[in-house]
Order: sequence, then C-alpha cells, then structure tokens
Amino acid sequence: MKILILNCGSSSVKYQLFDMTNETVLARGLVERIGLSGSVLTHRPAGKDKVVREAEIGDHKVAVRLCLEALTDGEYGVIKDYGEIGAVGHRIVHGGEFCDSVLITRETKAIIGDLVKLAPLHNGPGLLGIEACEGILPSTPQVAVFDTAFHQTMPPYAYTYSLPYDLCRRHHIRRYGFHGTSHKYVALRAAGLAGRPLAELKVITCHLGNGSSITAIKNGKSLDTSMGFTPLAGLTMGTRCGDIDPAIVTFLMEKEGLTPADMDQLMNRRSGVLGVSGVSSDFRDIEDAMAGGNERARLAWDIFVYAVKKYIGAYTAALNGLDVLVFTAGLGENSPAVREAICRDMDYLGIKVDAVKNQVRGQEKDISAAGSRVRIFVIPTNEELMIARETLAVVRAG
Ligand code: AMP
Repeated sequence: MKILILNCGSSSVKYQLFDMTNETVLARGLVERIGLSGSVLTHRPAGKDKVVREAEIGDHKVAVRLCLEALTDGEYGVIKDYGEIGAVGHRIVHGGEFCDSVLITRETKAIIGDLVKLAPLHNGPGLLGIEACEGILPSTPQVAVFDTAFHQTMPPYAYTYSLPYDLCRRHHIRRYGFHGTSHKYVALRAAGLAGRPLAELKVITCHLGNGSSITAIKNGKSLDTSMGFTPLAGLTMGTRCGDIDPAIVTFLMEKEGLTPADMDQLMNRRSGVLGVSGVSSDFRDIEDAMAGGNERARLAWDIFVYAVKKYIGAYTAALNGLDVLVFTAGLGENSPAVREAICRDMDYLGIKVDAVKNQVRGQEKDISAAGSRVRIFVIPTNEELMIARETLAVVRAG
C-alpha cells in the first residue's frame, strides 16, 4: 500500500509518499508561505532532481492539491493517479487523551476540532489538512497520529499538576507530553540495536532539536516526559524557556506591563538558548560563538547541558535504573560535543561514551565505551515512517 503523510503547519505543508511494501520514500516535499506572498512548492522525487514551483497558494486546500498534482505529474510524479494512495496519515500535535492513532471519522474529527483550543497553532492547521484531503480524496481512509498519544501511559502522579484539582479537570490541564512519535520510534530502534524486547528495558530517549524533550520509558511505556501541558515545558530550548519558577510569569507581566500574549511570545520566541546567549537559537552558531570566547553563548550551552543531565538523573531514579540512553533529533544526532558534555561525569550512573565512536553524525551508532553499563545510541529519528506504520496498522485493523 502507498501511504501519504501530511504534516501541516500554520503556513506550511510537509509531505512524504511511502511505498509500505518495502517502507521506501517515493517522494517528499514542502509547501511554504501558504497564504503569504512568494508561496512555493519544493518537490523531491526519489532519485531525481528536485522541482521548485512558485504559485499563489492561498490556503491549505490549494497546498494539498498542489502536493497531489506534483505526485501525479507526468514528468516528475511518482504515481499515475490519486487512486494509488491507499491512505493518508496526518501528524496531529495534540491528541488530548487519545492513547493511540485513530481513523478519522466524523466523531474523531469533532474531538480533534475541540482540541484546537489546547494547541491552536498546531491543531488548527492539522484540521485544515484533514479537511483538504476529505475534499480531494473523499474515499481514501485518513488516520490521525498524535504527538501526545505515546505519553498517555503516564501514571496520574506524573501527569497531574499540583494546582486546584477541579480547575485542572475543567480546563483539561495536565501533562500531555509531545514528540511521542519520535520517542516511540527511537525506543523501538534502540531495543532492536540492543537485541532485547523493548518491554524488558529501562530507556531514556533524548529528543534534542530546536524543540527538545526527554522521556523515561519503562517496559515499552512512557512513564514520564519533560514537556507538559504545552511544548514550552521541560528543557531550555532554541527559543523556549522550558521550566522556570512560575512566579516569574506574573512578576514580569506586572513589572513590564505585559499582556498574556506578550508573555507567551516572550517565553516561546525570545527565551531559551537565543534569549540567554543573544546570539542564536541554533546550536551550530552557539558552538561557533563559544569557540570565539563568547561567555553568554557558553552560559546558554551550560544551562542546556545541565538541564539534560538533571533529567537523565531524575528519570534514572524514576525508572530505578537505566539500560539504554538514546540521542536523537537535529542536535542529538549531529553534535558530538553536546553528547560528550551531557555524558561527562555520569559514570556513577553507568554512562560512559566512547570519544571516537561519538564523532558520528546523523547515523545510527552505539557510542558506548567499553565497560559502560548503559548502552548509549545515536538514532536518527523518523517520525514520518512511524506515522506511515501507524497509519497502515489502523487501516488494516479496519
Ligand atoms: P531539529 O529541530 O530536530 O530539526 O533540530 C534543529 C537543531 O539541531 C538546530 O537548530 C541546531 O541547533 C541543531 N543542529 C543541527 N545540526 C547540528 C550540528 N551539526 N551541530 C550542532 N547542532 C546541530
């Protein structure tokens, strides 16, 4: 079966078409600047040159139609007609209390629509993508795969905030956790590399990218994760502040005369590594600035590394031990320096990295030193493949 994966953002649509007989990517692409001037589609058929098309792309429906036209184009397309697409899998960021991927029906769509209030920037565009596909591919099954679903196994003591209980229930305030599709994918790969069933392992997965989160996985199930009610919580990130004393929020709003929207913007866009360093949200720039002696870049880096260390320590305690530690996403896959710094002086926990093996970038590799009690892996994440697998499973299950 061929499965189309769609990942809709507020002004972009990313797509990949998989042939699930051998899990190969037939084509991938990106529509950018939807609803803005200079909209553009970049289409990359496997083994061929990329194609760039500028067009007026006013909304997500037009964007999805353009993706499908690119996939069926006589010159650079990879399928003959839309009928070859057996199912569409949608990445939906917030799945509320959905604990699994679901077939999109009128009922599930209504619930996803209701969840827009919890994640307006993410779920709104996801719903637009679903509606666009319903219009263009009315008889093709569609599946929603949620970033939150993997974390629905967390126990109440890990997901409940110590705020007035009834208030939290009324507003659905709890830890949801995000990046679940990535954490699940790399945990399964790690178990494969370790040659043991995931159900027997204690695993910590570190998804370190522009957005970062860490998950403790016990017997194949998410036990705790660093992101919370929103993807703002946990580690310091590219532009997000992560965990701070909540009293700072009201203090700053009062002192600076900030509205809730201003404060939201400050914590999501002007904080984190960018906010502390004043240099960049990108760790490549931070590493360059540090090499040039920039003290604030060094401080931002140290804050990040220290936060990751603390989560690994806390989650090792929560798991009562650790078998496997995984690094993934842009930074986790590509920065030997960050991995080395995080794992330095962690031998008490049985974590020892091999300096030579750790030089790997963007490839699956066991980077544990001889004698490291914990197996340490670099595993490139593949959320799209995971979404395609989940979509296939849901469609097969009927
Ligand atoms: P992601 O959000 O997973 O795409 O990760 C993007 C982030 O990964 C970038 O903002 C960088 O901070 C980081 N990154 C990617 N490649 C490298 C690299 N070679 N060295 C250091 N950081 C990197």
